[in-house]
Amino acid sequence: MNRVKWGILTVLLVLAAVLFFNYLNEDEGYSREVFLFDTACTVTAYGNDAEQAVDAAIERISEIHRLTDAFSENSVIAKINCAKAGEIVEVGDDIAEILSVAVSVSEKSGGAFEISIAPVVKLWNFDGGGKVPDELEIAQAMKRAGNGKIIFDGESKTVVKTDDGAAVDLGGAAKGYAGDVAIAVLSEFDVRGAIVDLGGNISCFGSNPNSEDGVWRIGLQKPFAPTGEYDEDNIIEISGGAVVTSGTYQRYFEKDGEIYHHIIDPETGYPAVQEYSGVTIVTDSSLLGDCLATACFVLGKDEGTHLAEEYGAKILFE
Ligand code: AMP
Ligand code: MG
Repeated sequence: MNRVKWGILTVLLVLAAVLFFNYLNEDEGYSREVFLFDTACTVTAYGNDAEQAVDAAIERISEIHRLTDAFSENSVIAKINCAKAGEIVEVGDDIAEILSVAVSVSEKSGGAFEISIAPVVKLWNFDGGGKVPDELEIAQAMKRAGNGKIIFDGESKTVVKTDDGAAVDLGGAAKGYAGDVAIAVLSEFDVRGAIVDLGGNISCFGSNPNSEDGVWRIGLQKPFAPTGEYDEDNIIEISGGAVVTSGTYQRYFEKDGEIYHHIIDPETGYPAVQEYSGVTIVTDSSLLGDCLATACFVLGKDEGTHLAEEYGAKILFE
């Protein structure tokens, strides 16, 4: 009898030691970082196929980057932007998916989200360090932008421009879509959980092995603080889906003491003026979250909250 007791005690002690060891050693999973979409992109997965899953997801994220990069000659977006008015451009499945959500958010936001804003965004030259355009330049670029300049047909998956100078900018949506497709790829593998961080754009699925309840806890970047710094008491808990932030501090330049950020109000052609510096959307799809975050930033608290509610998304202003 004593032997049985000792046996049970030993088994319990070993079990406790294993649990304690696991507690001390977080599951780091497999993680890889690449620089795409002008930001650090990190994909982490946990489980048997973690490595293959992460590599395949990064491959797909890179593909979306290639297709949407206006600066790459071979991208679909460059093709649209170089096309003449009336020319039919076939866009393929990925761009069609992005455009269908972008057009929906554009319509529901009354044009606060507007992919045809490209000629105006280009003037501000955020990619080249920034430049404050003069009013005349903005007025001229505004004539090339706005509702009706880019016609998307979801059935034939084609785009037609109504103005030679019209152009598409997917800067407010492409990363979001990349998050969604990365999750779709990851979930095809034998992984129990994964998280995709595309700079202000987080997507996750499955169970977080480093939390007792499997929930993912996402810290919100502190505006204008070093990357990765977040408020301990501003954590979003999700069991899957996306947390997407649009913030002035993500891309801006300073001129004569003024800050000029990259979220443009399509009504004025100037950076949207708001009392907050970031908008976060929590929703299932990171593509939808991305379009909504940009749109709601432009709309302001009342209309932005209303729009997010229309899509069943949660919204936070910071
Ligand atoms: P995000 O960081 O998702 O808010 O997207 C901002 C990026 O989207 C900018 O860098 C521009 O490339 C583009 N953009 C700026 N303003 C708008 C707008 N009102 N609607 C759609 N895209 C925009
Ligand atoms: Mg966006």
